[in-house]
Amino acid sequence: MRYIRKGRAPQSFSRFARQQGRKAPPDWDDLRNPEKAELHRALLAEQRGLCCYCCDRVGEADSHVEHLVARITSPARTFQYSNLLASCNGPAHCGHVRNAEPVPVSPLSKECERAFVFSADGRVRPRADAKSAPVQHGDARRTIAVLRLDCKRLQALRRGQIRGVVNEIEAFPPAEQARKYDEALREYRGSASGRSDLPRFCVAMAQVLASLAS
Ligand SMILES: [Zn+2]
Repeated sequence: MRYIRKGRAPQSFSRFARQQGRKAPPDWDDLRNPEKAELHRALLAEQRGLCCYCCDRVGEADSHVEHLVARITSPARTFQYSNLLASCNGPAHCGHVRNAEPVPVSPLSKECERAFVFSADGRVRPRADAKSAPVQHGDARRTIAVLRLDCKRLQALRRGQIRGVVNEIEAFPPAEQARKYDEALREYRGSASGRSDLPRFCVAMAQVLASLAS
């Protein structure tokens, strides 16, 4: 999971949400294009092209607008931009499988990037030193369960991505590998210059690459 810093809503969506404010209860189906598509694009740009939960790369065609606090839980937040994210349409994980379950570790909290530990085999688990971590171990465990972040599909995708990068680096002579690990780390931390979109699974990749490089 990667921290998402919320910006401003697109003007067209803000206008729509203000009009809806006078209506009770709010009805999500009232939101149509072009306002809905503009909202969706703004969320994807804010998340630099990644699913808000699993960090796979997504576009408009394979993602949806997600309510962090479910509409049924808090109807008043239906059109609140700070409650809206873009999730992948993963068949076995993320927004479509959680139903209305709460997500205890939120991508809107800076701590989310430290709450999980990824390994080279593609698995994810709660950070073990959670006593000293700001996020509770139980919250991280519950989040993995609700969003199925450790499902076979995500494990295989992360493992494949890690292996691909490691194989590429290890094809270089040993003397050059440390530099190659540094380059890959910069790319996955999003500090490589000149790109707005991030590579898939960047938080998991940066964690694993840092452990392999050291
Ligand atoms: Zn996802």
